[in-house]
Amino acid sequence: MSVEEQLNDVLSRIRDGETTANRKAGSVSLVAVSKTFDAEAIRPAIDGGQRVFGENRVQEAQGKWPELKAETPAIELHLIGPLQSNKAADAVALFDVIETIDREKIARAVAAEIARQGKPVRLYVQVNTGLEPQKAGIAPDDTVSFVTLCRETIGIPVEGLMCIPPADENPGPHFALLARLAERCGLKKLSMGMSGDFDVAVQFGATSVRVGSAIFGAR
Ligand SMILES: *Cc1c(COP(=O)(O)O)cnc(C)c1O
Repeated sequence: MSVEEQLNDVLSRIRDGETTANRKAGSVSLVAVSKTFDAEAIRPAIDGGQRVFGENRVQEAQGKWPELKAETPAIELHLIGPLQSNKAADAVALFDVIETIDREKIARAVAAEIARQGKPVRLYVQVNTGLEPQKAGIAPDDTVSFVTLCRETIGIPVEGLMCIPPADENPGPHFALLARLAERCGLKKLSMGMSGDFDVAVQFGATSVRVGSAIFGAR
């Protein structure tokens, strides 16, 4: 199947999932994850109508997205990979949404850049629902206080929570945990679900799913 056909297939699975879960049509948005793919490989998805994309590395994204955004200004770019504070300026300049705020240092660096550049960037807090040592994200038990710190002390709005469940576990309990934490924080947005489990994530209340290989092919 072509990228455009695979994109349409993913979109129709999302719409079917919304129906099954009794959710409003259009309540789940698709972040097409284009990491490792170059501009030529991404263009068919843009031509097919996709406007929201995710990348996990600032430097890699800088190599392709300024040109693609110039061609199609409505594009919305999400950073879904770990961010170092020395890259905060570049990330705020290029991305419209940063989904991986997970510690005070990075929250402060991003807040300072948003103020300095005068650029509104939407922010998600990443939660390490499986407490995996190799994975980024704030611990579930620290999430409510961290979101409060971001909002009240650092002064940045948080739009939602994001998670990547452990690869070898049933993702459902992780999605349910993220949904409970978001509710406790008074947050309505949940970024969860990838190629292998986005159908499940839609059933657990995802408001956006991040899908790469099911659209662009294996990496
Ligand atoms: C790569 C990546 C995805 C997409 O993964 P696929 O399995 O290719 O759909 C989603 N979220 C994050 C954080 C990623 O790094």
